[in-house]
Amino acid sequence: MRVFKFGGASVKDADGVKNVVKVLQEVGHEDTLVVISAMGKTTNAMEKVVSAYFKDKQKVLSSIDEVWEYHAAILSELFANDQHAVYQKVRELFDEVKGFLAWNKSPKNAFVYDQVVGYGELVSTTIVSEYLKEQGLPNVWQDVRNLIKTDNSYRDAIVNWENTQERVDKLDTSKLHITQGFLGSDDNNFTTTLGREGSDYTAAILAYCLNADSVTIWKDVPGVLNADPRNFKETQLLHQISYREAIELAFYGASVIHPKTLQPLQRKEIPLHVKSFVKPKDDGTVVGKGADISPKIPCFIVKKNQVLIKLSSLDFSFIVENNISDIFKLFHDHRMKVDLIQNSAISFSVCLDNKFNGLQPMLDKLKRRFKVVCHEDVSLYTIRHFDDNAVKSLQNGRSVLVEQRGKETVQLVVK
Ligand code: ASP
Repeated sequence: MRVFKFGGASVKDADGVKNVVKVLQEVGHEDTLVVISAMGKTTNAMEKVVSAYFKDKQKVLSSIDEVWEYHAAILSELFANDQHAVYQKVRELFDEVKGFLAWNKSPKNAFVYDQVVGYGELVSTTIVSEYLKEQGLPNVWQDVRNLIKTDNSYRDAIVNWENTQERVDKLDTSKLHITQGFLGSDDNNFTTTLGREGSDYTAAILAYCLNADSVTIWKDVPGVLNADPRNFKETQLLHQISYREAIELAFYGASVIHPKTLQPLQRKEIPLHVKSFVKPKDDGTVVGKGADISPKIPCFIVKKNQVLIKLSSLDFSFIVENNISDIFKLFHDHRMKVDLIQNSAISFSVCLDNKFNGLQPMLDKLKRRFKVVCHEDVSLYTIRHFDDNAVKSLQNGRSVLVEQRGKETVQLVVK
């Protein structure tokens, strides 16, 4: 069996959905399980519903209606007959969200979040599945919550592999299946989510349990590029990447493939293709066994809005294990993600991702024990497989605050 994944951007409008049909017709659709995300930016819109529920109840219905309007426009372009059963099905899903929010008693944000946000995927797959049928591609709509079982860590659920495997074993693998990314369910059958951008991971989980031949992620780019075209002018397509290299790239912040996605695939050596949904017959990129990276060219990754902190001891004493462990505990307590570390005898520099706005209270604590210099809004550039030209191109005209070189990787913190 093959597993395909179409992300939100690929089904953001009626043309996108029509293109899914085209892709399936071109590359074949037998023995295929297709994982689909919520359409366009629906997950963000559903997040707004949740925040209205907690902060401004009056806006709940209007924010749900906005999401409905968006889907209604897509539906009317896809299904000329407004008596088509799909309208009823989608309306029922919207009624379910409203019903849930009307009777819910739980004050827990993460729980409510998962019960509400998941409708983005339930709606998108309902529309795509019905449209495929219309176009002569019979398929089975699978509720992924009956397949992927998780614990109840809402918003970041952990997969119960044994339970999931048992359920996936019962799938009829000779058919075309359409299912949701991002979702699972807990022991009480409440919806759980696997973390934002979790649909790639869904594809990997199902591929693992199905012993699939391959996973293909269909994208609006030709494959994995050596740099993000939003940040770099010149980019090149990578034809082949090893699992290890892909994990490294993801670790440094390349957003193409979610790191969690690679682990299950690597364990069973299932190749992961990243291909263009505009040119489905092109090769794209394959992540799998074999060469680390081909062609072997520098890969650029940038993380913006980082914080560089330089700590030095107040009394010229060394910064060694005991104070380093205290410093790391502070980072952990303030939910700072450490991107880069550089230390000398009496100073310690660290580049942090201040995702949860914990910077100021943390700095206050650090200042009690160290001299602290802090640069906000710096960028961290990483070049894998660097050469001199690649490094120079980044240094060019910028003020480099820290540079760190390893064998394969150079990192620059730049203001
Ligand atoms: N719809 C979810 C999100 O936007 C999952 C995904 O698209 O991967 O995060």
